[in-house]
Amino acid sequence: MAFVTGEKPGVGTFACATCWKRLRLDQKSDNLPPCPRCHGTIFIKVG
Ligand SMILES: [Zn+2]
Repeated sequence: MAFVTGEKPGVGTFACATCWKRLRLDQKSDNLPPCPRCHGTIFIKVG
């Protein structure tokens, strides 16, 4: 399942679809940020 920067995909771990850097959201209300490594905006939920 893919999400883009600015969405609120909920709590979980997301991997950047470009460089696979992982980031974690801890709050349901958190917005997905741009990738801190490559500034990519597409993420896959991995956990
Ligand atoms: Zn990236």
